[in-house]
Formats: sequence, C-alpha cells, structure tokens
Amino acid sequence: MTRVLRTRAHLRAALADVPRPVGLVPTMGWLHEGHRSLMRRARAHDGTTVVTIFVNPRQFGEPADLARYPRSEERDLAICAEEGADIVWAPPVEEVYPAGFDTTVSVGAIAHPLEGAARPGHFDGVATVVAILFALIGAEHAYFGQKDAQQVMVIRQMARDLALPTQVIACPTVREPDGLALSSRNVHLSPAERAGAPVLRRALLAARDAHASGERSGETLRDLMRTILASEPLAHVDYVSVADDGTLAELDRVDGPALLSLAVRFGTTRLIDNEPLGA
Ligand code: AMP
Repeated sequence: MTRVLRTRAHLRAALADVPRPVGLVPTMGWLHEGHRSLMRRARAHDGTTVVTIFVNPRQFGEPADLARYPRSEERDLAICAEEGADIVWAPPVEEVYPAGFDTTVSVGAIAHPLEGAARPGHFDGVATVVAILFALIGAEHAYFGQKDAQQVMVIRQMARDLALPTQVIACPTVREPDGLALSSRNVHLSPAERAGAPVLRRALLAARDAHASGERSGETLRDLMRTILASEPLAHVDYVSVADDGTLAELDRVDGPALLSLAVRFGTTRLIDNEPLGA
C-alpha cells in the first residue's frame, strides 16, 4: 500500500515507526523509467521506500521553464504504486518553503562550473531542497541518477559538510534504445528534434572510444564532441566538457579518471548527458 502525504507533519508521523533502513528517491515528477530504476534500487536495499514529487521552483532560472515543466500527479502516483513505494510525499510549495522561510544552501567550487555556470542559482535551489528532504526524512540512503553527475557531486558535498547522515547513492543512466537519456524534458522535443537528440550520446561515445584508443588531449576530445554535435543542424551546443572527475576542472591532459559531459539545446529544450572515463 502506497501512502500519499502532503504535509511535513504527516510525513514525520508516518516515518516514526517504519522498517529501516529508509531509502529516499527525490523527483520532480513526470516519472519515467529512470525514476523507476531508482525506486527499484531503494526497494531492493531498504526496508521502506519514500518517493518525493516536488517541482522545486527554486532550482528553475526562467519562470517559463518552471511553468512548462510537465506534470501529471495521477500518472506519477500510479507509477509509484506499481514500483511498490511505501510513502509518496507530494507537498504543495508552502509545505516545503513555509511563510518566513529564508535560508539558502549554497555549495562551493563543485557547484560553479558546467551546469552551475550555465544555470545561475540552479544548484542553490537543488542543495536547499535536498537539505530539507534529508533533514525531514532522515533516510539512511538517497538515490540519484548519474545522468545529473554534477548534481550528485554537489549533493554529496552538501551532505558531508552539513553532517547529514543520508548516504548518497548514484545509479546508472537509463536510456532509450537509440541512446537518448530519459528525461522529463524529452516530452517537449518535436519529432525532428527527437530524431536528432541521440547525437549527444554519439558524441560522448566517440570521445570515450578515442580515449580508449589512447587519446589524452582534453581539447582534442572536446573538439571531437563538438564536430559530431555540429553534424546535427538542430543541436545548439551550450557546453562540451572533459573535466577532472573530482573537481570538474577542465583538463588539458586526461591522465586519470575524468568526466565527459555536455549540454545541448534543441529549440527551447535543453538536454544534458555525460560519460565517465576510467583511469
Ligand atoms: P528529476 O525528476 O528530473 O529531478 O530527476 C529525479 C532523479 O531521477 C534525479 O536523481 C535524476 O538524476 C534521476 N534521473 C533522471 N533521469 C534519469 C535517467 N535517465 N536515468 C537514471 N536516473 C535519472
């Protein structure tokens, strides 16, 4: 039985005597197979699975992006029930940010490049809401998608620095058969944009293959990704990165573990993806 709760008070009360450990899956709804994979991980490892569905206004830069973010609670709740979630917390905005709320959690250097540079304020919004969720729910484990690799790093830093006892677990990116990473935003792609979108994956795989064949120049790998992205006329590159996997600083030479990542716009829809490189 999946219990759907709206308030902080009901959530706290429901969590008082549930089987431990508790596994948390934070989402913004419009659930897809990627979210389902996180719920399955929680169900397999934890005594209680808690899913949160909250479109967090603080992590959106442009009001238009927030306004058009896809929502369908009925469908989302059916998916949570199918996946055997024990508790779904789907609060209204004022339950997360009550009147008088006036704190921002702002993570340092790891939040500054890439998505942090492209979307000012985004990670402040993410870190703030996740800190609230971690504090309210007190889960032993929280599951996040590797698709948002920098987000995982930002949340790990936040949880460590604030001594929050929730362990952050990164889970593999779930993809369409043609390689496109699942994302709630994919619904906005026109048919032509959808047909072009797998170019992100092709660019990442080409760079991964070049690295596997011995290419160690960061700029050559970035150029390779740019060239492949340029072959798709509907793709407009936001950034292409070959970065240190601990600091996300851009690399001249790839001598250890690294992260390939990119952000590409198709019309008004912005897609991101990444691929880790081993040592
Ligand atoms: P969102 O609802 O987009 O905020 O995502 C909620 C969680 O699902 C985040 O931890 C995301 O990284 C994760 N997620 C989103 N897309 C995928 C995917 N394709 N594969 C795995 N996890 C994902």
